[in-house]
Amino acid sequence: MLENKSQTRTELSTLGEFKLIEHLSQFVKLSQSSTIKGIGDDAAVIKNELEATLISTDLLLENVHFDLTYFPLKHLGYKAAVVNFSDLLAMNVKPRQIIVGLAVSNRFSLEAIEEIYAGLLLACERYGVDLVGGDTSGSQAGLCLAITAIGQAQQSDIVYRNGAKEHDLICVSGDLGSAYAGLLLLEREKVEFLANPNMQPDLQNNDYVLERQLKPEPRFDILNLFKEKNIKPTAMIDISDGLASELLHICRESKVGCMLYDSKIPIDSTACSTLEIFNISPTVAALNGGEDYELLFTIPQSDYDKIKDSHDITVIGHIVDENSGCMLVPENGAMIELKAQGML
Ligand code: ADP
Ligand code: MG
Repeated sequence: MLENKSQTRTELSTLGEFKLIEHLSQFVKLSQSSTIKGIGDDAAVIKNELEATLISTDLLLENVHFDLTYFPLKHLGYKAAVVNFSDLLAMNVKPRQIIVGLAVSNRFSLEAIEEIYAGLLLACERYGVDLVGGDTSGSQAGLCLAITAIGQAQQSDIVYRNGAKEHDLICVSGDLGSAYAGLLLLEREKVEFLANPNMQPDLQNNDYVLERQLKPEPRFDILNLFKEKNIKPTAMIDISDGLASELLHICRESKVGCMLYDSKIPIDSTACSTLEIFNISPTVAALNGGEDYELLFTIPQSDYDKIKDSHDITVIGHIVDENSGCMLVPENGAMIELKAQGML
């Protein structure tokens, strides 16, 4: 995963806001041709190269959205960027720039902020996104990160939630439920750590699920595949709150129903083992766990041949008319209505 840095502590009060921004901006490299001006003036400047601009923002609050007891700061920065990238990818658009709002209390040192930025910038570099500005403020309690992602597209390439049609195939990238399995492990270790601060966490052999929770990857590769195969999904959303909730969003917006096949939902075998320890059914974790940041999308049946050989895309059901409702079909037994019940 992401390595940790030094133990020195420089108080933010010795720098002040201006010096902090100056310090952080030395690590920022720009790579997008559409970035005309990044950090350093009153506003960033972005060249309009395509018809439409897409903007999405996400607010991350300490102890509401993340827990620093077990979430390393560099991972937090990385995940904060990824979560925002994912929202644009879910529109079939690659993010090009981000802007970062940061509020920190004096509990945090310069080195801590450097760690967050190291994570943010690692994600930016890996995916060719420019960090072009932000705002910085002191906070009375806790850490707050507000990230805005910006992208550009031709209008005809944008995919909304509302285009799913009867008979379309419902597809998902990657596997589901692993991030939730990782969270369960981290929460368990936190309880034990608080009871006995000298203990060493027992997180061996759980690399995959921990990585899915602490370091999710945005699915730029799926957008590349769409382009390569000439696929434009009829509807798409990213899975932040669990498959059930996201599929219901697509159905509601598209005014359709769905048949989701329980046994088709892709779940990693190590995630299954972890979930078993906690007595949680893998299907329930996939449906309601969330934070997988995979893409859920619908395509016409005629596009099936284009995706059938991809190991990273699974067909999990199909769209039906609105009156048939949204149904979960178990392998054995009667269909049940699909419901969104958050577990986080
Ligand atoms: P202003 O007083 O006009 O708001 P700031 O001093 O806040 O200006 O910002 C100066 C420059 O630094 C701007 O280009 C802004 O986008 C950038 N900036 C401020 N805070 C951050 C941050 N946390 N991350 C990245 N860039 C930042
Ligand atoms: Mg400012």
